[in-house]
Amino acid sequence: MDLRTFRRDRITAPIFNWASRIMPPISETEREAIDAGTVWWDGELFTGNPDWNALLTMPPARLSAEEQAFMDNEVAELCGLVDDWTLNWRDRDLAKSVWDHMRAKKFFGMIIPKKYGGLGFSNTAHSEVVRTVSSASVVAGVTVMVPNSLGPGELLMHFGTDEQRDYWLPRLADGREIPCFGLTSPDAGSDAAAMQDTGVVEYGTWKGRKVLGVRLNFHKRYITLGPVATVMGLAFKMRDPGNHLGRGEELGITVALLPMDTPGVSHGERHIPLFTFFQNGPLYGKDVFVPLDHILGGEAQIGQGWTMLMTALAAGRSISLPSQSAASAAMSARASGAYARVRTQFGVPIGLFEGVQEPLAELAGNAYLIDAARRLTVAALDEGHRPSVLSAIMKYHATERMRRSYTHAMDIHGGKGIIEGPRNYLAAGYRSVPIGITVEGANILTRNLMIFGQGAVRSHPYMLKEMLALSDEDTTRGLDAFDRAFWGHIGHALKTAGRAFLRGWSGGRIGPAPRNAALPHHFKRLSRHAAAFALTADLALLTLGGALKRKELISARLGDVLAELYLLGAVLKRFEDEGRQAEDRPIVDYLMQQGESRIGAAFKGVLDNLPARWAAWLARAIAFPFGVPEPVPSDRQIGKLAEILMKPSAQRERLAPDLYLGEGHAEHPIKDLEAAFALVVEAAPIEKKLREARIDDLQEARDKGVISEGEFARLTEVRTAVEKVVAVDAFPMDEISPTAGQHRRTKRTGTRARRQRQPAQ
Ligand SMILES: Cc1cc2nc3c(=O)[nH]c(=O)nc-3n(C[C@H](O)[C@H](O)[C@H](O)COP(=O)(O)OP(=O)(O)OC[C@H]3O[C@@H](n4cnc5c(N)ncnc54)[C@H](O)[C@@H]3O)c2cc1C
Repeated sequence: MDLRTFRRDRITAPIFNWASRIMPPISETEREAIDAGTVWWDGELFTGNPDWNALLTMPPARLSAEEQAFMDNEVAELCGLVDDWTLNWRDRDLAKSVWDHMRAKKFFGMIIPKKYGGLGFSNTAHSEVVRTVSSASVVAGVTVMVPNSLGPGELLMHFGTDEQRDYWLPRLADGREIPCFGLTSPDAGSDAAAMQDTGVVEYGTWKGRKVLGVRLNFHKRYITLGPVATVMGLAFKMRDPGNHLGRGEELGITVALLPMDTPGVSHGERHIPLFTFFQNGPLYGKDVFVPLDHILGGEAQIGQGWTMLMTALAAGRSISLPSQSAASAAMSARASGAYARVRTQFGVPIGLFEGVQEPLAELAGNAYLIDAARRLTVAALDEGHRPSVLSAIMKYHATERMRRSYTHAMDIHGGKGIIEGPRNYLAAGYRSVPIGITVEGANILTRNLMIFGQGAVRSHPYMLKEMLALSDEDTTRGLDAFDRAFWGHIGHALKTAGRAFLRGWSGGRIGPAPRNAALPHHFKRLSRHAAAFALTADLALLTLGGALKRKELISARLGDVLAELYLLGAVLKRFEDEGRQAEDRPIVDYLMQQGESRIGAAFKGVLDNLPARWAAWLARAIAFPFGVPEPVPSDRQIGKLAEILMKPSAQRERLAPDLYLGEGHAEHPIKDLEAAFALVVEAAPIEKKLREARIDDLQEARDKGVISEGEFARLTEVRTAVEKVVAVDAFPMDEISPTAGQHRRTKRTGTRARRQRQPAQ
């Protein structure tokens, strides 16, 4: 018996038998989800020793000249056509001119190759378009993003038959067809695979002929573009009780391409998603019969629906919501900084109060970080990667940071952000936040189940190999494969422990950083956390095994560490890619501290709660001998970041670039804000004279010679511009409510009473 055979039969075999007993079987849908997409940088992070040089040398996201021209012309024109207030509060739909422009300029065919009449854009261009359009209007952004994301277009390109591609793609590209994708039903939301929508294989009549096909019955809801769509990608469970196809009864989740005018299909009702009036509604199908050639990908793809969806999700989820979140974070940061500069209370701009600077700093940080991660992810997609775990990280963290950004922006704007009307540039985005949180994998589920859960299996260097070996029906082959994977894993774990020890005991001073990096200490600290992550992840997997699925909070926190490592790596790459802008250092330092603090809190949460206490003790002793670090940005750092948002500069433009700022509209609240901001900053030296003379009244200041006639005119212009920004809308009672008449008497008395109670006002 050679050494390897001895090891396999005497040492590995009992472990194999034990693990086979405790390991839950991998379900078909889990296996398909695992198989979907690719492993990229997430795999590096799981090694505990990521190759930073590989990250930095990866080409940054870039637009071609043609794509840039599209941004400058077609996208700019589209933004100028959208009137967000009118569409939400009066028309409850995009204007016809906007729909026409989207169709004519092929906004619905951005990802469709040119040979089918589409724009054939890169993932970077797709993301940039969604980002800029979303900055003009969430509704327009969603309308553009959906046909280019998870839906018939994407699925046809990857899985369609030649005939299906030749027929549908040109029609989708030029907007003759509007697609939607129907997966969710009332009984199946997050657990979409539990859907009850069925398709039964049988003979039926199609265009006067008897053919083999599928009879569909379904009820879908929440379907974006559903009310106006002309074709639907429909997910259903296919059954063949008569065994017409010779493949047994249960065929699995399948996707069909269903024209909306097929008899039995009904649609047209609308949901109202938080008063954000993109087209969204339910779809119904009663005994709808279509031939088998309506199955997306033909008969070969029957039962492959879940794999198809997961694969498409790995790309779409990396682009749509991260791009929209990037727009929202940048716009919230830009607008809040400007508003905090022009709005004064207690005689000073509110942005000078430390309490306001704290949310401003986070706004600046979020804008930098989300865009850094978005650009890195789309650059990876352009290189051909489809990283499903990173797409889940992007979806969750971009939308969560967007949520925080909007909340901070609202706080800073006070009543100005709350009162709805054409002058409010925040409320529509704020209202729409829960939509981004819920769709494409609801966030709680994504954080608790997907990120680490999928990552541990998919991105870990040995885990999947071990699981596949354990579930191999041929146990001899399984044991052999398990033996290799298991001992590889042990070797890897020992190396990881060594790295975690060196990096932990040196407080992050010893550890790899890329050659010639401008900020090697930051890379070293991330290297330290990466090693600690790999060690802790292995200990959690070893001690919890399949039970980790139920220990959602441990899984969530490990996912938080993994995510921060990805996001902070993207920040450091952005800093390098943008030519190491010295003035951006405070943002990078702030984000590193904030991120490390989150990493620290997540590690603490895992180690405090890991049921196997010895494992937690071991991880602490190796990786965190002096406690888990949780650095906090200083008040000085916070002040510096707030300042960046409160003065016009190239840096501010870099932080919040390519947003729609009201061009093409005669009146636009963001245009007014930007104008007032520029005027206030320019007139600051004149304002200072007033402050020093302790005079607030302009005329008095002019009469006393504190300011000149020209300065008086300038300040009058500034104050008018600021008043316009600070103003909010008010509407006649009858316009707001048809029952307004009943309040007429009450209103007069009420007003009098209020005045009496508050004489000082
Ligand atoms: C505006 C809008 C547009 C949409 N567009 C489309 C579309 O075009 N096509 C389409 O098919 N669908 C669409 N959806 C559906 C969307 O994908 C689902 O809403 C989503 O999958 C969540 O399902 P649910 O709303 O039923 O929530 P549920 O699944 O009931 O979830 C409720 C809560 O429970 C949490 N949860 C569930 N399971 C777990 C778990 N195991 N662990 C931890 N937490 C868990 C979720 O995270 C969530 O917070 C849309 C939804 C909305 C609101």
